[in-house]
Amino acid sequence: MYPKPIKNFIDNFSKLPGIGPRQAARLAFWILNDKKNIKEDLKKALEGLAGKVKSCDFCHFAIENGDNNKCAFCDNPVRDHKTICVVEKETDLATIEKAGVYKGLYHVLGGLFSALDTAIPKNLKIPELASRVESKMGADNEIEEIILALSPTHEGDLTARHLERLLKPFKVKITRLGRGLPYGSDVEFADAKTLSGALESRKELK
Ligand SMILES: [Zn+2]
Repeated sequence: MYPKPIKNFIDNFSKLPGIGPRQAARLAFWILNDKKNIKEDLKKALEGLAGKVKSCDFCHFAIENGDNNKCAFCDNPVRDHKTICVVEKETDLATIEKAGVYKGLYHVLGGLFSALDTAIPKNLKIPELASRVESKMGADNEIEEIILALSPTHEGDLTARHLERLLKPFKVKITRLGRGLPYGSDVEFADAKTLSGALESRKELK
């Protein structure tokens, strides 16, 4: 129905998370009709992403390429370095940070277990989390708590159970977000009040 360049735009943009073909079509026409040269700005923004962002050596949150290997959270001595909040993705971290109640460090897993595949996903930063905890659990037990801030979904549950088994030998307190977040919801889209409540009512996994 649409001319080839528009169809091509729709095919590519509907590969993005949260964008279906209908929204992609709407975007295509909005961009075509825009007078403010947004095409150039978008092109620059896309090019700006490529090769200019890497991840923190410690928590795997995104940082700008350069000499630094630590993100602003890991590098901040004022934050509580004895608590690690494990999240599925960077945007979950942003939601928790915006809620303004958490002052510890993070660990970005980069995904969750799949409900359809029993194998441990290889791309998740799980071994990195284990070695991060192991390296801090010497004589002074530098980590006191690990909060699993994973979405209350089947995938989140599978991942939390695996992490709990994996981290148990380190004898660290492991908690999971408590009440308020409805089952099947996503941490990323929780409002600040719900998230603060879920953090405060977090439960220890035993
Ligand atoms: Zn970091």
